[in-house]
Amino acid sequence: MTRILHRQTRIPLPVAVAGEGPYVIDSVGRRYLDASGGAAVSCLGHSHRSVIEAIKAQLDALPYAHTSFFTNEPAEALAEHLTQRAPAGISHVYFVSGGSEANETAFKLARQYFWNRGERERSRIIARRQSYHGNTLGALAVGGNAGRRAVYEPLLIEVSHIEPCYAYRHRRDDESEGAYGERAAAALEAEILRLGPGTVMAFVAETVVGATLGAVPAAPGYFRRIREICDRYGILLILDEVMSGMGRTGTLFACEQDGVTPDIVTCAKGLGAGYQPIGACLMSSTIYDTIALSPEGFQHGFTYIGHASACAGALAVQRAIEAEGLLDNCRKQGIRLAEALGQRFAQHAHVGDIRGRGLFIGVELVADRETKQPFAAQDRLNARVKAKAMEAGLMCYPAGGTADGVSGDHILLAPPFIIAASH
Ligand code: PLP
Repeated sequence: MTRILHRQTRIPLPVAVAGEGPYVIDSVGRRYLDASGGAAVSCLGHSHRSVIEAIKAQLDALPYAHTSFFTNEPAEALAEHLTQRAPAGISHVYFVSGGSEANETAFKLARQYFWNRGERERSRIIARRQSYHGNTLGALAVGGNAGRRAVYEPLLIEVSHIEPCYAYRHRRDDESEGAYGERAAAALEAEILRLGPGTVMAFVAETVVGATLGAVPAAPGYFRRIREICDRYGILLILDEVMSGMGRTGTLFACEQDGVTPDIVTCAKGLGAGYQPIGACLMSSTIYDTIALSPEGFQHGFTYIGHASACAGALAVQRAIEAEGLLDNCRKQGIRLAEALGQRFAQHAHVGDIRGRGLFIGVELVADRETKQPFAAQDRLNARVKAKAMEAGLMCYPAGGTADGVSGDHILLAPPFIIAASH
């Protein structure tokens, strides 16, 4: 009998005991092809030697030293690696243990930035419906996933939520993708004006929506327009790339493909590829200077920030991605996977849409293809597809089903970047 409060308590879980490339192996020797990287985490598979060796070497040298006393070499080297490859203007990093912490850090950076500048009326965040930014209370409040929020609603700060950019459901038939992107972005300006521009500190969005909508990229031009609106009103743009970043979409940062530089970008999952818990909040030099050069510094901190062995693991992950040309493979296999899914399922009675970027692909499941009618909550297919796939030795992630009745449920595919055609 288990003594753990698991994510799901009704179905007994297999016990994972080993990893081999893109496979997870359980205690009775069954192999599962990890077609979702867990939840878009395991971008290098489960047995990458250089990462394991780097973590072991760091553990032998020094596992951890508290960051109020010391910095450490892997954290400094990882910060250098990331900022050299980040969009122009991003100059510094704050390392945490995961995606929720990265986003909490981003919100607090934004608030302290305006506090230090004397714009203390700015405290409001605008985010989007059908988004997910984590499960800590701040991140949950900013997220727009009705199902995940329901129980905790009284504990959540007030956040404005505008429509996501979700062409499959919201683009009109007579509208081009670009025109739709413009219209979707205009919702931000309207909300800023409604709240009063001087009260808003940040707009927060996933560059490619992950767990809630199943790999939905924005329409062309959407984020450029969003950037212009943020600049016009002096509001910070925070992009959450916890799921979509670190190469998952075929470029290190997903926003490179949207042609925008955020003021803050968060990442986690693919950063450490699951070998150690780690997340990061990257910021512009303007934000860094405003906070770091102030007498009080950043009013924030966790015990495990800049963890030496986590940073050593993540640095090895990022170096392996470059040394092995895995972003190229991610793009190539992503096209292949999307084509194969299209051939097999595009006409399926319950497949509404297949979309994504790189090895980050969502399949939206609907009750009726013509009307795009989602399944009723009790009839959703995603959990059943997941269970059937596990029986067949395949891991795929059941996303969506946001309890708001305005989207279908989804299957998210996000295999490791080492995936080959044979898999
Ligand atoms: N932001 C996004 C876009 C995510 O997909 C997730 C996790 O799925 C998070 C934040 C939260 O990350 P974590 O579970 O590491 O706290």
